[in-house]
Amino acid sequence: MYTIGIDIGGTKIKFGMFNGEARLVKENQIKTPKEAIVENMIDAIKEMVQGQEIHGIGVASAGIVDFHNGVIKSCPNLQALANVPIQAMLEDAFHVSVVVGNDANCAALAEGTAGAARAVSSYICITLGTGIGGGIVHNNELVHGNSGHGGEVGHMTLVPNGIVCGCGRKGCWEAYASGKALERMISDDPELTSKNYQPKDVFENYMIDASSKRVVDHYLEYLSIGLINLQYLFDPEIIVIGGGVIDSGKYWWSELEEKMAATASIPIVLQQAHLKNNASMIGASSLVKQGK
Ligand SMILES: [Zn+2]
Repeated sequence: MYTIGIDIGGTKIKFGMFNGEARLVKENQIKTPKEAIVENMIDAIKEMVQGQEIHGIGVASAGIVDFHNGVIKSCPNLQALANVPIQAMLEDAFHVSVVVGNDANCAALAEGTAGAARAVSSYICITLGTGIGGGIVHNNELVHGNSGHGGEVGHMTLVPNGIVCGCGRKGCWEAYASGKALERMISDDPELTSKNYQPKDVFENYMIDASSKRVVDHYLEYLSIGLINLQYLFDPEIIVIGGGVIDSGKYWWSELEEKMAATASIPIVLQQAHLKNNASMIGASSLVKQGK
């Protein structure tokens, strides 16, 4: 019996077939179609499965996902999928249970199944990318919350009446500590814009030039405040940090740990995420095991 994990992205959709030990045995991928997306997904699954028995399908998607009804409510890169009943359509096609979750929650589950959180049962996983995604796992169970929005930590308010976030609210953590926020901090700095610096440049020059140091220190301060808040709230065994920003972690990771140790009065253990490209797909298959 196999479980299918699917990662829906704006440019491609990835499909993985996992055996009983959660090992990836087969994969498939299609370009995200402009229309009839679910119908194309069904064809791609059939092609991969080749008639073998499956017992569940998990789907990970960016954007706001209604976990309870298996519907993507909104996602800027996937307009054609908004409010399409993905769960119901896949259940009709394959007659197995289907679970749809957001990609940050799925990435968190994947770290527990095959990544940095394998040895613990309660942890939080933060994804630092364009935005800040989060997944909270308590006693091996993903915290979905009452309305299915548990773990949307990027939208905790960090600064009252602060910068407008992509969600429309002001002062969200995401508006201060995401990759996009760092880009904004760089573009606000005349010295860095004159050098045409990108996020990777300020990280590389963190300990070298004063303007890079100023911006990165500022960024790490915002990042650490949010992480400390999460530690006080949930007291997890570890906090796992992943996403694109972590690719330059070697330049700033120890500094972040030091900042946090200096300001938090409870122990915080940070770990870098182990899984990269396939995290959401692996986590989507784990979502099936978690059930609803
Ligand atoms: Zn927000």
